[in-house]
Amino acid sequence: MTDCPFCQLMEQPEQLNIIGETENFYAWLEYPQPRAKGHANIVPKQHTESILEFSPSEYHEAMTLLRETVEKELQGLDADGFSIAMNIKEAGGQMLPHAYIQVFPRFEGEENAGTPIGAIFPQREDLQSQEYFENSVEKINAVNFDFEKEKVKPHPDSQKFKEESGDSDKEPTESQESEERPLEEEQSEREDEIDLTKRGESVQWQ
Ligand SMILES: [Zn+2]
Repeated sequence: MTDCPFCQLMEQPEQLNIIGETENFYAWLEYPQPRAKGHANIVPKQHTESILEFSPSEYHEAMTLLRETVEKELQGLDADGFSIAMNIKEAGGQMLPHAYIQVFPRFEGEENAGTPIGAIFPQREDLQSQEYFENSVEKINAVNFDFEKEKVKPHPDSQKFKEESGDSDKEPTESQESEERPLEEEQSEREDEIDLTKRGESVQWQ
């Protein structure tokens, strides 16, 4: 038996207060310790240690379920606002070894109404220096990470897919493509190659 509290809960989904579900995620009302009226968790059904393990399609799925949850609570509970929490790793306040996104409906007139989550971080005068900003921007931008590119497989109709599967003999050279081919055709091929994300459901993320 797993010792993960969320996996244990999900072994008997009938005990969960489920308010939304997708193929890979549940949304349930926090139990047993709700911290707000409508406090909900968006949780992957499979044991997943961190939201850092989500694929792009899983982020899409989780965010879609989150949006649905917000709408249902906005209307169903008359919530006036929301705060969404994604605590990552122990230092980031993640309390369980199973990924979760928290939804906290906010209500006008309640004691904490209007207080942003960011209020746990008071302003720091020691960070008001040009040196801090320059150093930080440099270090952060030195990291190369393109999440979608790393995860997206080429669309079966795309030039990239043909190249990878060795079927690129008949393709025109770059100069022919830009000078001789009809604009429309050229654009559609560019979409295949470059902008997979706009192809919606035809994209194969995994
Ligand atoms: Zn788990």
